[in-house]
Amino acid sequence: MQISILSGKGGTGKTTVAVNLAAITGWRYVDCDVEEPNGFIFLNPEVVAREDVAIPVPNINKEKCILCKRCVEICQFNALAMVKDQVLFFEKLCHGCGACMLVCPEEAISEKDRTIGIIEEGKGQGIECIQGVLNLGEPMSGPIIRKIKKKITQGNSLIDCSPGNSCNVVKAIEGSDYAILVTEPTEFGLHDLRVAVGLVRKMSIPFGLILNRADKYHKIIADYCQKENIRMLGAIPFDKKAAMMYSEGKLLIKDRYYRQLFEEISDNLKEVTKCS
Ligand code: SF4
Ligand code: SF4
Repeated sequence: MQISILSGKGGTGKTTVAVNLAAITGWRYVDCDVEEPNGFIFLNPEVVAREDVAIPVPNINKEKCILCKRCVEICQFNALAMVKDQVLFFEKLCHGCGACMLVCPEEAISEKDRTIGIIEEGKGQGIECIQGVLNLGEPMSGPIIRKIKKKITQGNSLIDCSPGNSCNVVKAIEGSDYAILVTEPTEFGLHDLRVAVGLVRKMSIPFGLILNRADKYHKIIADYCQKENIRMLGAIPFDKKAAMMYSEGKLLIKDRYYRQLFEEISDNLKEVTKCS
């Protein structure tokens, strides 16, 4: 079973929920927030496997090229340009679609790999941990997320998604059996929650909600959940102790109160997903 954890906006505590739930349930933790993965800080796994993720990009043989410009015209991402008597290639714009290779009449374009990031696997807090890391300045996260998801077809996984509702989130939650939306009791939180709810509903993924930093304003989210018939799986209080533990890279469940709270959230999650 794959359960995705997402938030309409950054900074709502999505990773806090993901790592603590993973540690309580013993399910695999999967960090698909590849531009800024930070779950390993809390789970501290010993990394036992590391592999590159690469995309195929064109390698143009100038000797064979007749400057017909077909490759430039077919590229939808402006990664190729004709300048005077040569074809220029802008590798960071290339999506590795292979169209230029197909249209070249002289077979002047071959394929070479370009590494865009890595995937790391290990074990921490007794659970399996996987994270993708996109190289600095790289624009394309998709291939890393796709490769991670091929590794987690068996067993139960908690997928920590990127913040927001971008295509990276769509790729990460695609095929999920359930989604947990994490939000906070503010107008901004509610606004972005509405967008996230629209996304999971459009993708027909059943979902529930965890309210983080719950305070006297929690009603703004509670009322919305009631109106939209959304199941609240739990609420984490707005608490200085939790903020301190987070800043020290500690799991909240090391504290007795939070352990009990996450056990209750885990029970609620197991009840709605029928997952043990
Ligand atoms: S592989 Fe696709 S994206 Fe890359 S240069 Fe060729 S046509 Fe453009
Ligand atoms: S399609 Fe092939 S021959 Fe034509 S410009 Fe591109 S590389 Fe050169």
